[in-house]
Amino acid sequence: MFDYHMHSSFSGDCTVDMEEMVKGAIAKGVSEICFTEHIDYDYPDDSIEFDFDKQKYDERIIELRRKYEGQIRIKKGVEIGVQPHLLERYDGMLKEESFDFIICSMHTVDRKGLHYGDLFKGSTVEEASLKYYNELLHCVKNFTNYSILGHVDLIKRYAPEVLENDFHDVLREIFNVIIPAGKGIELNTSGVRYGLPNGLPSDDVLKLYKECGGEIITLGSDAHKPEQIAFDFKESLELLQSIGFRYIATFEGLKPTFHSIDRL
Ligand SMILES: [Zn+2]
Ligand SMILES: [Zn+2]
Repeated sequence: MFDYHMHSSFSGDCTVDMEEMVKGAIAKGVSEICFTEHIDYDYPDDSIEFDFDKQKYDERIIELRRKYEGQIRIKKGVEIGVQPHLLERYDGMLKEESFDFIICSMHTVDRKGLHYGDLFKGSTVEEASLKYYNELLHCVKNFTNYSILGHVDLIKRYAPEVLENDFHDVLREIFNVIIPAGKGIELNTSGVRYGLPNGLPSDDVLKLYKECGGEIITLGSDAHKPEQIAFDFKESLELLQSIGFRYIATFEGLKPTFHSIDRL
């Protein structure tokens, strides 16, 4: 099993030491993990800094790889929070760094953090959702420095009343940009953890991605605590298989490897 979305104290919203996450993953029988620490430039909440010391991160990953060799494989990833005005800045940073895997996520829309609900003030859920998807579309049209899109319908976590099959037109446009560019999406199981009826994205969006020709998909818990690692993975693999996905991707040096779901 591979958990390709997790955080440690290198992320501004997580206090758990990296080694505790590694131990937690081993205890759950996960064979490979990828840390995807947050970099979210220009985040609307100044009290949190979503950036970290890249050299220390690199050193810690190398140290833990050595220490737990033969027990688990540890990959070095990052989750960047894109906004239309930040794309060049991310390109510049990523040119200087080497990651195995880059998640492109959007946590901020119209310069408002989704987490605080500000986006929904003064606009309907439909308007806010469309703003979210249109900004994401703008980003994928103008930015290619990533492996997969993170929790592509994240807006649903904050507006669960958005129905299945909503916004498929703009989602299809997004998929029609990213799939030919060799990018993928993830199934992020935190949706289930937060009490949604499904992961992020929801089943209808997974089906739409498949229908558009999408093949690259990773599975991630978005764990911020050891006990959240690999949450709901068995069910998620079964779901992906039932939709027609046959492979789960892992990454090394930004190159994907495909693993047959049958054998997991
Ligand atoms: Zn995220
Ligand atoms: Zn995350």
